This record gives sequence, structure tokens and C-alpha cells, in this order.
Amino acid sequence: MSDTQEILAAIQAGASGEDIANLKIPETYRAAHVLRSEAGMWDGVDSWDKDPRKSLHVGDVPMPELAPDEVVVAVMASSINFNTVWTSIFEPLPTFGFLDRLGRESVWGARHAQDFHVVGSDASGVVLRVGSAVRNWKPGDRITAHCNHVDDQDPSAHNDSMLAANQRIWGFETNYGGLADLAIMKANQLMPKPEHLSWEEAAVNALCASTSYRMLVGQHGASMKQGDNVFIWGATGGIGAYATQLVLNGGGTPIGVVSSPDRVKLLNAMGCEAVIDRKAENYKFWSDENTQDESEWRRLGKKVRELVGDDPDIVFEHPGRSTMGASVFITKRAGTIVTCAATSGYMIEYDNRHLWMKLKKIMSSHFANYQEAWNMNRLISQGKIQPVMSEVFTLDQVGDAALKVHHNEAEGKLGVLCLAPEEGQGITNPELRDKIGEDKINLFRRHARGEL
Ligand code: NAP
Repeated sequence: MSDTQEILAAIQAGASGEDIANLKIPETYRAAHVLRSEAGMWDGVDSWDKDPRKSLHVGDVPMPELAPDEVVVAVMASSINFNTVWTSIFEPLPTFGFLDRLGRESVWGARHAQDFHVVGSDASGVVLRVGSAVRNWKPGDRITAHCNHVDDQDPSAHNDSMLAANQRIWGFETNYGGLADLAIMKANQLMPKPEHLSWEEAAVNALCASTSYRMLVGQHGASMKQGDNVFIWGATGGIGAYATQLVLNGGGTPIGVVSSPDRVKLLNAMGCEAVIDRKAENYKFWSDENTQDESEWRRLGKKVRELVGDDPDIVFEHPGRSTMGASVFITKRAGTIVTCAATSGYMIEYDNRHLWMKLKKIMSSHFANYQEAWNMNRLISQGKIQPVMSEVFTLDQVGDAALKVHHNEAEGKLGVLCLAPEEGQGITNPELRDKIGEDKINLFRRHARGEL
């Protein structure tokens, strides 16, 4: 039996923490990674045609030495995030620049500057080893990981860790990410695994759900109130599907935008009644590459008023260039546009008169601090927010899964089995699962199977 198979066998057999602590950590492990030598492989190729199946490799990489504030985790499952798409198409920049910068920061940082980059910013699994400075976690703990990688010896990390000068996204701006059989992470990325969820259901949430939590609920974001109308672009996508749930759970009214009748059906099944199919409405916010059409913004605003009788208090923005002009226009007087991304382009244009004359705010947001991620994990653990996993892939199929996300062919989240040999394992609180209901937990999968 290989070292990795022994680790899996021990976890499956329910080995004690002490036994798990004595398992051998292999010198190499299987991981999804891109190669520095291939960073120029897409030169001259259109973004859409860059195929992650060609740039994402699954193979052995060396296990680094463990720093005192870190843990080694046996990754049972992980998920695809858009940042793995960015890394695999080497846009907007190859991520090796991030690793090199981290490499120059410290002796421990130097381990990250390699000619391979192990990707992945989500994980569920079991702690195998803890560094000498780790207090709150021990071998055998079942965890999910959030992706905020912060050096807490920097004073800038101590008001809000997302403001830390050296804040990074694990598995995107650091090496040794979660799309692998093993992973290295800081102990302050760990959170208890929701007991009623399987490994893959537990693995898909942290990055997207915590991002949406900070944008909408946390004190650093739009601070949504009960009764708020919240306009959500991509409302069945990764961050959008958690945003929709957070609005419903928090007593607000989501206005969800999607791009097909099938996604409209899914949104309705989630309990979102005010839905806009942007393809069917055929909005043309840009009349040509350089000109926006205000009458199209107005048409969208009118549609929102028809649906909910008012303008949105908050607009949940991430498509970027294609939608920002419309988002600023439709937001209510004194309302907030909260943005965390720019999928369609980051050089943004909007009419500033609509912002200042109506005293609106554009607020930026990026992932979440530990407390926010922890609060979000608690909502998931309590069954108040559900995982939005539509499909599950094996680690060997990571390129296919990334391509689906790249081409906007996936709803919600795509789970990836790493050490977990099959779906459905890892549930330790079946009573809570029964109470919440398979129908709710599996909504996105049922939709993907055509069962809605
Ligand atoms: P996703 O699962 O692909 O969902 C995005 C959704 O946006 C799609 O389902 C699509 O929905 C909609 N969309 C795409 N292009 C659009 C356009 N031009 N106009 C209007 N809607 C459009 O991706 P995700 O995981 O939700 O991530 C979305 C973005 O946020 C990515 O750029 C990602 O990198 C970023 N992100 C940032 C953070 C952060 O911490 N800053 C965290 C997570 C994600 P329809 O086609 O159905 O309308």
C-alpha cells in the first residue's frame, strides 16, 4: 500500500488522532498544477479558446517542509473556483509572479517559489500533522479550509485581516493548494467540517460563500438589512447562488439575473421569485465597443421596478465591464454597488453623474477575513445555507471541470473528489441531514440531473 493509500485507509477506518499523527507523510503527492515552462503556451490565443485541460496537469509534486504555524491536511475533496480558471489560462498574469514575490518574503515563503503551481482554494479533509506553534487543531480533526492566507506578524493584519499588506489567496497566490491529495495550509485557515455534509458538499462552500457573506452581510460590505432589495448578477453562479440564499435567509428580496430558462427554473426552486433572464431580455448595454446605451440601463431599471416595485438597495456586482454602467444606474438613491470581480473586463466605465447626484456608493470587496469565513461556515453547519454543488468530478478530470466554469456551462459549484473514493462519504450527523432534507441539500444536483 502506498503512503497515500494508508492515509485514506486510516481515515475510512475511523483511526484515532494518535494513529493519524503516526502515519507517514509521503515525500511526493498527487496534485493539480500548472508549469512555469508553459506560461507562454497561450500567447496569441483568444481567452475563450484557452483550454485548461491542456495546462492543468495532475501528477506528483514534492511535499515541502512544514512551517510551525501550518498543518498538513489529507484532502478528501476540493472544488473549482474561477481563480483556477485564471491560473490555467495564465490571465491576467501567470500566477508564478505571485509565488516569486512570496518566495522573496521569508525563508518559509521561499518554499512556494517553484516551477510548478499547485492550484485550488477550497478543501475538506482531515488534519494529519500540525506545526509546533499550532494550538487549536490536532491530527484527526475533520475540517474545511478557507483561503485567506495571512502572516499575522504584520501589524496591518490586525484590524481586518483582508487589509493585511501580505494577504494572499491560498492556492492562487500561494503554492500547495487544495486540488490535491494533500495540502499545506496555515492553521488559521481551518474551520470545523459541517457534520451533515459529505466531503465534497463540505468542500465547495468556503471561497464563494464567504466572499458573498462579506459582500452582503459582514460589517465590511454592504451591510444588508431585512427588507432590502438586492440585485444579483449571475444568481445561480458560484458566488451568486450563495448571495441569493443569504438575501433570502436575511429577510431581503433577491432580484436574480441569469441567462437561460433552465436557470430561471433553478432560481425559482431556490425561492427567488423576482428573476430576469438577461438573454431573453436581450439587453445591449454596449452599443459598440466604446459606447454604452443609457436607454438599455433604463429598460433594466424599469424591469426591476416591475418585479419588486422599487430600485435595488444593493447591487451584487462581479461581471465588471459589461454590466457596471447598468449596475450604477439602477441602484437606488444612497444605495450600494458592491463589487468583487470583473469577469468580462476590468477597465470599467459608468456615468458618474448617476453615482454622485444620487449619493450612491461603490464598495469593493475581496474574499473574507477568518471571522467572516467562520460565521459563514456556521450558517452552513446549521443547515441555514446549502451547498450549491451541481456536479462532482475526480481529480484526474480537473481540466474538464475548469473548462466548464471557464465557458459558463456550470451552475453553482463543481466538487472535485481528491482522496475520497466516491461521493456521499464523510457524513457524521445524518439526523441533521434528515431534518434539513436531501431535497434542499441536493437542489443543484437534482437540477443538473434534470429532476426539477
Ligand atoms: P461563475 O460560477 O462562473 O458564475 C458567474 C456568473 O456570472 C455566471 O453564472 C453568469 O451567469 C454571470 N455572468 C458571466 N458573465 C456575465 C456577463 N458578461 N454579464 C452578466 N452576467 C455574467 O463564477 P463565480 O465563482 O460566481 O465567480 C464570479 C467572478 O467573481 C469571477 O470573476 C471570480 O474570479 C470572482 N470571484 C472573486 C472573489 C473575490 O474574493 N474577490 C471570490 C470569488 C469569485 P448567467 O450567464 O446565468 O447570467
